[in-house]
Amino acid sequence: MQVFGLVGNPVGHSLSPPMHEAAYDALGIDARYVTFEPAVDDIGRAIDGADALGVTGLNVTIPFKQRVLDLVDPDPLAARIGAVNTVDFTGERPRGYNTDAAGVTRSFAHHDVPLDGRDAVVVGAGGAGRAVAFALADSGCDVHIANRTAEKAAELADAVGGASAGGLDTLDRVRDADVLVNATSVGMESDESPVPREVLHPALAVLDAVYSPVETRLLREAAEAGATTIDGAWMLLFQGVEAFERWTGEDAPVDAMNGALRARLS
Ligand code: NAP
Repeated sequence: MQVFGLVGNPVGHSLSPPMHEAAYDALGIDARYVTFEPAVDDIGRAIDGADALGVTGLNVTIPFKQRVLDLVDPDPLAARIGAVNTVDFTGERPRGYNTDAAGVTRSFAHHDVPLDGRDAVVVGAGGAGRAVAFALADSGCDVHIANRTAEKAAELADAVGGASAGGLDTLDRVRDADVLVNATSVGMESDESPVPREVLHPALAVLDAVYSPVETRLLREAAEAGATTIDGAWMLLFQGVEAFERWTGEDAPVDAMNGALRARLS
């Protein structure tokens, strides 16, 4: 039996176990997906231990995504983003990937939204914002990053290269954009949107990284404005799909994984 898992602290409410186990069931893979919650200072021992015990793959979440970068061989994209959310132990050395970026691009592809040559606005410059900004820039978007703390947006734009940045007062740029991604946590705990509804329009495709609730205020207002909407469960799904494919080398059973995920989200 193969062992996969998620390492984070806390990991109690993770949706990854049912999503990945649905994939093993669909393809008849003898595997389990387990959650691990090491103490914050024990992450180095946890990664070494997983490697020594023959764990096949781990997902990594808060607060370990940045620290794991230094504990594995990161692929170039994970190194640029500065965070690892997937570790593959099958090679000589543990290899680190950032599949949140693929979660973004595959979500847009699944909804037939082209990215190459498009104007994109990313709201947020935290962990998710970094993955989103690199993913969109690498897909050929002209990226603008708007963040509450404008300096963080500017630093991220520098790291991405060729992107522009500003505070939330630059969200007017959404009026002329093709793509908008919310990578802030706004909308998660209260019925608020980080983007004024007046700037939303029908030619826009909007991805909200927030997946709880699935229908955020931003997505509701975007749909009312006639925009294409993509909820955060798609991004969560496709980061998991990408991790599964990295670990197993097989095409993921996307419908089975999506079904398991949606069954647990309201
Ligand atoms: P993070 O690193 O803590 O970053 C939080 C971001 O939200 C920062 O840009 C912060 O701005 C901004 N923010 C927080 N409160 C705000 C407010 N009241 N007004 C305006 N901006 C505010 O968190 P993260 O890891 O990037 O996660 C952000 C969201 O993405 C969370 O909801 C998370 O669940 C979601 N996420 C989803 C997926 C998925 O697969 N769907 C993957 C990763 C993350 P400042 O820099 O100014 O503080």
